Amino acid sequence: MRKWTGIFAALMALMFAVSTAQAGKLEDIKAKGKLVAGIKDSQQPFGFVDEKTKDIVGFEIDIVKYIADQMGVKLELKPVTSATRIPLLTQGEVDIVAATMTHQKQRESQVDFSITYFMTGQRLLVKKGGDIKSAKDLAGKKVGSAKGSTSEQNMKKAEPDCTVVSFETYPEAFLALKQGKVEAVTTDEAILVGIKYSDDNPDNWDIVGDYISAEPYGLGVVQNDSKFRNYVNQTLMKMWETGEYQKVYAKWFGKDTKNYIPLTWKMELWP
Ligand code: GLU
Repeated sequence: MRKWTGIFAALMALMFAVSTAQAGKLEDIKAKGKLVAGIKDSQQPFGFVDEKTKDIVGFEIDIVKYIADQMGVKLELKPVTSATRIPLLTQGEVDIVAATMTHQKQRESQVDFSITYFMTGQRLLVKKGGDIKSAKDLAGKKVGSAKGSTSEQNMKKAEPDCTVVSFETYPEAFLALKQGKVEAVTTDEAILVGIKYSDDNPDNWDIVGDYISAEPYGLGVVQNDSKFRNYVNQTLMKMWETGEYQKVYAKWFGKDTKNYIPLTWKMELWP
């Protein structure tokens, strides 16, 4: 009898595990009443700490806020870095990643991506008036970037004779540039714009060179949960179609901001 009770209990546990696994992220988020988003917290204007309020704010915070609002759940923000964002997602520590993450083919083996919600490309940030004008000028020199980024990979390909020094975050790479420890910082232009214009002396810095690569950002979601991914995609499209996306874009990248970047691309919209 005891044996059968044990088997029955094991079967019930298995059925529960299967049903919760099948329930998927969408149901899971609704059941817990919050969307946990992995975001950057030192990367203006995507995700950073507002000096006055001490809140984490930014373009990507507004994107995940819109998604949480549409789901009718609270939003919890968890800071991630370029290196930690994928592991934290695969370990289930965050439900979604909105952290300047390029939808790169190689990353498809670990996570799934939403449609593109931001478009940029990789360039270089250098001291104004210096000799560095392009990736080739970095041969034999040191360039700062972030661990776990496409930027460090692309830079090595663009100029194999440079040394890429990788930091946890881009502000740390910028500090190294200011201290003369590296000759340039390389990453997405939109991030470099944020770094340059959040400095006390933006005129000391120049963003130079051709685009080293195209960097389309996708929201990271767990693999093989198309119901959740579809929900995220359709919510992004709704954000664009209702004009909310453009409003949020103008707030962080519009003409009246210090990070002005014209909106020159269109979101993929399904009919
Ligand atoms: N978008 C690039 C990437 O996904 C560089 C920016 C970043 O490190 O977040 O790796």
